Amino acid sequence: MRSNREWTIFQRKQADDCLVGVVYPAAYAVGMSNLGFQWVLRQLDITPGFFGERFFHTPGAAAPRSLEGRRRPGDCHLLAFSVSFETDYLAVLQFLAAAGLPLQSAQRDRRHPLVVAGGAALQVNPEPLALFVDLVVVGEAEAAWAELLAVYRDTADRQELLVRLAGRPGFYVPSWWEIRYGDDGAIVQQERTADAPAGAEPVVRLPVLTADDLAALEPPFTNLLSTGTEFARTLLVEVARGCPTGCRYCWAGYRYRPVRPFAESRILAIADAARGHTDKIGLVSTAVGQYPDLARLMADLHRRGFHLGLSSMRLADLTPELLRILAEGGEDTLTLAPETGADSMRARLNKPFTNEQLLDGCRTARAAGIRRVRLYFMAGLPGEEPADADAAAALAEAAGRALTGRTGDGRLPVTVSLSPFVPKPNTPFQYAAMPPLPELRATLRRYAAAFRRRGIDAQIGSAREAHLQWRLATGSRVTGQQLVAVAEGTADPADLIAEHSAVAARPFVATPGRRPPWAMTTWGLSENHILEEWRRFRSGDLTPPCPSLAGCTRCGICGSTDPSPDAPPSRPDDPESTR
Ligand code: SF4
Repeated sequence: MRSNREWTIFQRKQADDCLVGVVYPAAYAVGMSNLGFQWVLRQLDITPGFFGERFFHTPGAAAPRSLEGRRRPGDCHLLAFSVSFETDYLAVLQFLAAAGLPLQSAQRDRRHPLVVAGGAALQVNPEPLALFVDLVVVGEAEAAWAELLAVYRDTADRQELLVRLAGRPGFYVPSWWEIRYGDDGAIVQQERTADAPAGAEPVVRLPVLTADDLAALEPPFTNLLSTGTEFARTLLVEVARGCPTGCRYCWAGYRYRPVRPFAESRILAIADAARGHTDKIGLVSTAVGQYPDLARLMADLHRRGFHLGLSSMRLADLTPELLRILAEGGEDTLTLAPETGADSMRARLNKPFTNEQLLDGCRTARAAGIRRVRLYFMAGLPGEEPADADAAAALAEAAGRALTGRTGDGRLPVTVSLSPFVPKPNTPFQYAAMPPLPELRATLRRYAAAFRRRGIDAQIGSAREAHLQWRLATGSRVTGQQLVAVAEGTADPADLIAEHSAVAARPFVATPGRRPPWAMTTWGLSENHILEEWRRFRSGDLTPPCPSLAGCTRCGICGSTDPSPDAPPSRPDDPESTR
């Protein structure tokens, strides 16, 4: 780790009153590419009274020390965990254990750092970590983080701090709630503990920033560039948040809508500051193509001498002009996510383009000078047919031919990433189960064989890791207790998904009207909307894109249809398993 070379765009602060350990519970290479992790460090650099030092953790690592000052976690006033993936939950516990800190928040007191956690995985479901963290900062962190630091500056007393944040959007204190689960794993009772102040809300509302809020903020970016990351000397900048499409499998699509861009002047200011360090820039967003006048922004960056890369372009946003600017900026690969080779399944996922439209996109890319294509597929979707494996391989082959114009033999410039599908909370697929592990493995083998037959390079995801991710993503505080056994070394990580293991993490498949374990937090997405989308998945009906319009109440996030989380939703139809 120490041999990695780093460059800093804006100078970092070396010391101040309050030391915050910023913890990424995975390897350095992963953490340093994470915009949320880098954003927290940047906020500490620009907030008087605080400074941050980095910790990373991989399983089996020795007692953690900070990268900057070789300090112990226990030396910090505050530990801020950035938890991006469900599979990092276990590493959070392992980090606390390796640091010699009590695992459970109830066992820690004023002698220990305050343990705060945020990050993408906790937006989905913070409950598996509920017993171990003092405070969860949920929702878009820009809304809550400054408030947390301001209150911390006023009072270092942990109980007073938590009480002052009670009822504020985005702050969840799990220890204030005692939860009882039914036999099916649903929440059947939730009671305040004696410590909980009157202002503590039974369900925490996660903040959703307005377009004006976002436009006024500095976008998250990689202030620290490092040779130890996949992106090495590429400056990553988040240019917009949200995607209008409403793909039914995508939790981020539901979580970050409506689409809101960062100001172009702020993006260019970061690029200008970085120009002495790098000439590569990656524009990041849930849907980069939704950035208003993206072509102008790209042209501006190109004029400043940057080579450009874009994350996750929607096919509908690919214009010949964008492709030309990308190719001129040095990009030679078109990345698309058809998810499936079957048009009918893609429509059921609410991803409204056909195979033929994707092939047209490849031909346009060829004309612009793009030479390679990378395709993302999923396997194990509810209702998937065995023939879908060959349909995916056939589409990959056709995409390669459309991109090259070749009809004969020879290896095509196509690479495929195939991921096992994982149903996530707060998406329509929360009502669906994953296929059993042996069945999922057989499905992945079928896909691998289909790609091999057509000479397509395919990276195939792990069925085991996908199952673990599902169990943790839909887990509860009971799941958290099972993680303790693994963190303390009395159980093996493999036991978490072993069928007859005492610590097997049990997945939760939602039922309308029952409160799932993740119902302790909400950002206003209405359960009626999710149920309607589940019905539409089964009927194959498309839902039009999020209109990003003031006054819209369709999904509950912007409008007034915020459901009372305790009230069972009215039922349009009974969801039924498609398996
Ligand atoms: S309420 Fe309407 S505008 Fe707001 S996120 Fe939902 S669909 Fe989009």
